Amino acid sequence: MKRNASSSIEPLEPPKRRKVNFATFTKWKTDNDKTWQMISWLDCVAVVEGHNKMVSTLTCSVCTKYAEKIKGRRNFNEKWITGAESIRISNVIDHAKSDQHKHAMMLLRRDQARSLGLDAAHYAPIARALTSLSKDEREKLKRKFDIAYLVATETLSFKKYASICALEKKHGVDLGVTYLNDIACKTFIHFIAEVEGERLKNALSQADFFSLLLDGSTDKGCCDNEIVMAVWCDIDSTDEKIHSRISFFTVVRPQNSTAKGLFAVIETALQQIGIPSLDISSCSKLVGIATDGAAVNIARSGLKGLVEDQLPWIFWMWCLAHQMELAIKDALTNTSFCDINDMLMRLYYLYEKSPKKFRELEEIVRDLRECLEFEGNVKKPLRASGSRWITHKLCAMRRVLARYGAYTHHLAALSDDPSVKSTDRAKLKGYYMKWTDGQYLLGCAVFTDLLAPCSIFSKVMQSNEVDILAALTSILKTLQETEKLSSKDMEEWPTCAATLKKITREKEDFLYQCQPLKKYAQAKVYYKNHFKEYCSKITECIQSRLR
Ligand SMILES: [Zn+2]
Repeated sequence: MKRNASSSIEPLEPPKRRKVNFATFTKWKTDNDKTWQMISWLDCVAVVEGHNKMVSTLTCSVCTKYAEKIKGRRNFNEKWITGAESIRISNVIDHAKSDQHKHAMMLLRRDQARSLGLDAAHYAPIARALTSLSKDEREKLKRKFDIAYLVATETLSFKKYASICALEKKHGVDLGVTYLNDIACKTFIHFIAEVEGERLKNALSQADFFSLLLDGSTDKGCCDNEIVMAVWCDIDSTDEKIHSRISFFTVVRPQNSTAKGLFAVIETALQQIGIPSLDISSCSKLVGIATDGAAVNIARSGLKGLVEDQLPWIFWMWCLAHQMELAIKDALTNTSFCDINDMLMRLYYLYEKSPKKFRELEEIVRDLRECLEFEGNVKKPLRASGSRWITHKLCAMRRVLARYGAYTHHLAALSDDPSVKSTDRAKLKGYYMKWTDGQYLLGCAVFTDLLAPCSIFSKVMQSNEVDILAALTSILKTLQETEKLSSKDMEEWPTCAATLKKITREKEDFLYQCQPLKKYAQAKVYYKNHFKEYCSKITECIQSRLR
């Protein structure tokens, strides 16, 4: 209702509201029933004034019935439940068009259809649209949706869609003549995603509580993204059991990877299901958040602190696997493992960035095959970056142990190769000088043995069927195995023993796969003095972090 600017100085008088005769209200319902099914939902509170029955507020009986389930919808407004005071047909029609109302009507149709034992086509618009196609057309479309779904789930390029369709046709599958290119594929995937997203939104708006899982991920363009998953209890399952569900929720690109940036990521995700902000008044359904154990997430000044300030009840979970990874990483900081790790990374990038170098390496291995013992086919050193998976680092170190001679030979050859840029040659020469120190080769052996027990846990956590009991058992196993190592002599550790056995002596030189090792004796003494300390560092870190 419009008020003019002078209304504040007028004497206290309630603003005049437009009132409508009850008969007019009834006429609205019948006139608009065909388009908006108004008879089924439009209600009012009527008062008697003089001889007339007048409408005082308008309500929607269907929105009221499904109030709890539509609260999370976009632009949800309570006034059609508590009573809308603006009595105009245009307002009624606006409500009929609103997202919350449409959803409430869908829920009503769904419940009515279910009580009659009817299927989705009777209440869901998409399913209804499909029913208007001929059975034959629908089948063709379904097949194309299936192919698009495959393209998406196998992370193939959209361009592959056309070839798969062509192959299907060759096998006699009738796909019709339309929607056979990558653009159609994109459209199909878009709709599949929309339906999946809609399903999740409905599920979360109907759930009493839900939790979020967050983790960072780097995409192909090297951009950091935060992936958000949702976990909730599904109490409306058809088998009448309560199921815990987990689903991909969304990907958000954070403005920055500080605690504030991550906080904004959660808010952006919540807004997609109609929760405007992460605060006590609008976010009562969010009960738990799980992240990795990085400081930006779990420190008091980190994301955890920011969320707790708003939602004091929040239950914070740290990913056990990440905790373990971080514990090991912490345990090994400031040990010679840092040097080994640095070598693994540099080796990886050396070959990753240059297919030419990689080809040369293959040739060298072929040439040296006679004099060296190699296990398996030659591959690039595995990437050993980040703190993600202990198993990756283990594989990388095992690979270095298996092909150490080839790598060092190749480095030496490259650093003498006039076709390589002189600055690069200097760098490669530097690597060669550094990595032929006995410390590197022996270090790979020591840390392979040391990380092997830790990988028990990592492997358990990576399996699809993991439960808390299996996880705890494997932590205990990791601790036991590490203690067992500590009680042995380093020369009895399996990889160390095997490596030491392969080291031969020629006069003053110690050779491994034909490569002389510098300061080998010192390196051996160094590790013999330190291996017990590494073991206890690892057990202490695990115990303190996972207690
Ligand atoms: Zn309504």
